[in-house]
Amino acid sequence: MARLSKSRFVSGSQCHKQLWWRVHESDASELAPDPSQQAIFDQGHLVGARAREQFPGGVLIDGHHGDLAGRVARTQAVLAAGAPAIFEASFFVDDIFVAVDVLERVGPAWTIVEVKSTTSVKAQHLPDGAIQAHVLRRSGLAVEHVEIMHLNRECRFPDLRQLFVRADVTGEVQAMLPAVAREASAQLRMLDGPMPEVAVGPHCETPYACPFRERCWPEMPEHHVSTLYGMGKRVAAFEAQGLMTIHDLPDGLGLSLPAERQRLAVQQNRVVVEASLGDALGAIAYPCAVLDFETVALAIPVWDGCRPYDQVPVQFSCHVVDEQHHVTHHAWLADDARDPRPEMAARVVEACRGAAVVVAYNATFEKTVLRQLAAAVPELAEALADVDARMVDALPLVRNHIYHPDFGGSFSLKAVLPALVPGMGYEGLAIASGGLASQALQRLLFDAHMPPAERAEMREALLQYCAVDTLGVVRILEQLQGYGA
Ligand code: SF4
Repeated sequence: MARLSKSRFVSGSQCHKQLWWRVHESDASELAPDPSQQAIFDQGHLVGARAREQFPGGVLIDGHHGDLAGRVARTQAVLAAGAPAIFEASFFVDDIFVAVDVLERVGPAWTIVEVKSTTSVKAQHLPDGAIQAHVLRRSGLAVEHVEIMHLNRECRFPDLRQLFVRADVTGEVQAMLPAVAREASAQLRMLDGPMPEVAVGPHCETPYACPFRERCWPEMPEHHVSTLYGMGKRVAAFEAQGLMTIHDLPDGLGLSLPAERQRLAVQQNRVVVEASLGDALGAIAYPCAVLDFETVALAIPVWDGCRPYDQVPVQFSCHVVDEQHHVTHHAWLADDARDPRPEMAARVVEACRGAAVVVAYNATFEKTVLRQLAAAVPELAEALADVDARMVDALPLVRNHIYHPDFGGSFSLKAVLPALVPGMGYEGLAIASGGLASQALQRLLFDAHMPPAERAEMREALLQYCAVDTLGVVRILEQLQGYGA
């Protein structure tokens, strides 16, 4: 007989087939967390540990993960001993096991506190709270309140007294309880039978991306209509009309300009360049600095003035192209947990000194980082504002004036660079995405026990990755100059 848990119930509420695989193929390769998911889990553990500090005298129910009976028995003993709060309080009833993040005693009754690393209550948190309330009440416990305890975006380091917000969701959970009981029984019955048939649909992405999409979703043909830029909801309408790939799309569909350019480029298998590209490139003056930041976003801030998940720059790369088109490179990468912003600000100002324009690809991000840096390092605020004022975004130069059939409907640097600059891209790099870079940066800064050889290797991989981001834009601009001539 299979059993349910909090996470299993939440999976099953999204899709029975997903839950069936999670239970019956629990060692499936799709279920191994990738580095980004692992980083989220790690942050979650830190947040959970920090949350417990808010409940003095709380008792942790630890022990082997698989020893459910032992954990339930220890919980009963701690309940009887009168603890004011219990962490990982464990209950098992009707084949459902739950471990409550914090069970807080309030007079003769109890409050379930579910700790989340988010900065608000999300709809998907409610079934999580509801299954706990269901199990605890079936166990005979007087649960009066259910709360979601999440991070507070308004809290700034060093004053972390208000790091958490406790939101009472008792009413919402109460309303769900009858359905929760039915759904839990349905899931348990389903798990005892063969794999259920469930059609694919929006539930494969919501509220969480299902790990089994590759098993269920048919392979898309090349240039499927879903790859058309910014199409979203029109994809289903195209498919309903039998228009499966971009090759099938006729004239006169009223597509956006980039999507229409994509349609022509794919159907004619050529690079489509607008006559306007030459004029648009007039915005690029020399010397030209190409700038890129990498950031970390810590759930629990550690630097002055920072809030949960503020993106703090800890690395930058800047390639400067002079009037003779000679290229020089500037880079900096923080190496420990000290506040990186003063040195970062000084080095960025220095790298961009004398540049007529400062180019970034998708510059909104770099502009936001520059403004946050200016607030953190007021003595360089004016110089950073000057960098900001010289900034030109290279992404619209591509999106609004050119389309290469290999872009695949995306104007991200990862899609555009290998298409416009053959031989240049991120393949073969040890770190090849912003998500991996952010995770590696967190380790580099905060894992004081990392072996020196691994640290050196990680630094090198990060420097290479960030350098490709900016040298790539330099090469893209060169290609655009060629197309726009
Ligand atoms: S891909 Fe969709 S249908 Fe398949 S298991 Fe996941 S959620 Fe269910």
